[in-house]
Amino acid sequence: MLPAYISHPDCLKHDMGKQHPECPDRIGAIHDMLLMKGLLDCMQTWEAPLATEPQLTQAHAALYVHTMAALSPADGHVQIDPDTSMNCHTWQAALRAAGAAVLATDLVVEGKAASAFCNVRPPGHHAGYREAGGFCFLNNVAVGIRHALGVHGLARVALIDFDVHHGNGSEDIFHDDPRVLMCSIFEDKLYPFSGNLARGPNMVNVGLPARSGGELLRAAVTDRWLPALEAFKPEMVFISAGFDGHREDDMGNLALLEADYAWITQRIVDVARRHAGGRIVSCLEGGYDLSSLARSAAAHVKVLIGADA
Ligand SMILES: [Zn+2]
Repeated sequence: MLPAYISHPDCLKHDMGKQHPECPDRIGAIHDMLLMKGLLDCMQTWEAPLATEPQLTQAHAALYVHTMAALSPADGHVQIDPDTSMNCHTWQAALRAAGAAVLATDLVVEGKAASAFCNVRPPGHHAGYREAGGFCFLNNVAVGIRHALGVHGLARVALIDFDVHHGNGSEDIFHDDPRVLMCSIFEDKLYPFSGNLARGPNMVNVGLPARSGGELLRAAVTDRWLPALEAFKPEMVFISAGFDGHREDDMGNLALLEADYAWITQRIVDVARRHAGGRIVSCLEGGYDLSSLARSAAAHVKVLIGADA
């Protein structure tokens, strides 16, 4: 039972402008590195389906979904916030990215894949129940989690978010849902400037000061995340996998390395094996320096799938 790799060519068509860091090349950089490392040889490859409206409205307001779909331009760009815009392909790409999380959930829960990695964009963790922003339109991982809870009947799911930015959209969707435990690390005093005051008892938020390296990350995971995860005993684990905390990524000011992403992934795998039958779905979030993004994602996937490559 091979782990799953899920992506779609539509995810490359969403484009927010030539200089925008959330660029289509991110997908290819990760894909090529996984290929080069031999990791894709150890995975089953799937194309992401389009998420359906009933799936999306498990995580977003129906009016929000309709409004975003209607905003989709015939040509040019529609600005959503100063950093986030839609072209004529954005909505289709967003539906694929959310659909990837749904397919990943189905494959893993139904025992057809040991775990899954979704190499998709646009990212999702800044998209709230009724709000887009921060390069995000639909909260992919949240759509997958609500699918696991609602359709597959799981009772407890953990969401791990190690992107350099706080996943304010995910917190918005899950802060009052005790079926979900969200554990996150993020850089303090960085966009979206939230997270220090957790919005619910199911939020384990750990802000790290700028320039923090792997040592502080590992302490946060060991001292804050792992006790909460052990007590919660998740039946499945989702990951918002952002790699913009890497030392070479200018989008944030943390100093993480590939070895830190491998380490944190191993801790997540250990928790999933103890409580969740190893069930993990990981969805790409940030990571904008193409070289360190590709290397970090490969380090993450290698541990996720237990590869010797
Ligand atoms: Zn980020």
